[in-house]
Amino acid sequence: MRRKIETRVESLSTRVSAVNLARERDVLDQWIPTDPTRPVYSALRDAFIEQFSVLYLLLMEGPRKSVVEAMPPGLAQLDKDCTKLAGLLFLRSNVWAARNWQKPPVLKFLLRCLQRSKVGRPLTRLGIAVQAKELRLADPKRWKWEALTAKFCDCRKREHSISCQDNLRREVLHLEKLLKSCGHPVEPRKTP
Ligand SMILES: [Zn+2]
Repeated sequence: MRRKIETRVESLSTRVSAVNLARERDVLDQWIPTDPTRPVYSALRDAFIEQFSVLYLLLMEGPRKSVVEAMPPGLAQLDKDCTKLAGLLFLRSNVWAARNWQKPPVLKFLLRCLQRSKVGRPLTRLGIAVQAKELRLADPKRWKWEALTAKFCDCRKREHSISCQDNLRREVLHLEKLLKSCGHPVEPRKTP
């Protein structure tokens, strides 16, 4: 069920053609691999497709002159969120598969954006939070914070302290907030 609260991207999406939006979403949806076994990845993917297609169309359909003046409020933040989501979604291995494609313009635009961003660098803290959250969702009994810290903390101390745990929890919280603000919160799977 769709929530009533409008996210930033939902209000921005009213400024672009609905037909074009559906088309660009479709292109991205076909190109970005799905992975139903990973709920966090799936939420990042959904959020990215939604945001990036709106960003692309706002930039393409917007008036050519005085772009800065015509920028709707929220566009800069949308751009930032897209970069953040892209950094978490696209890893070294899965980006360059599109090279030999006969690429629709939205994909060319995406690949240009990815080349400029930090895609391909070693995992960021937020990237680690994605992995930690996937594990927690998959098996919360096994993956308590202590176990996750032992797996992911790179402080190199012999024993991890409570602040190691806090750092990881903070990053996971940051990730959860990001996804929530994009309208794609990840929740533990509800047992029927
Ligand atoms: Zn540590």
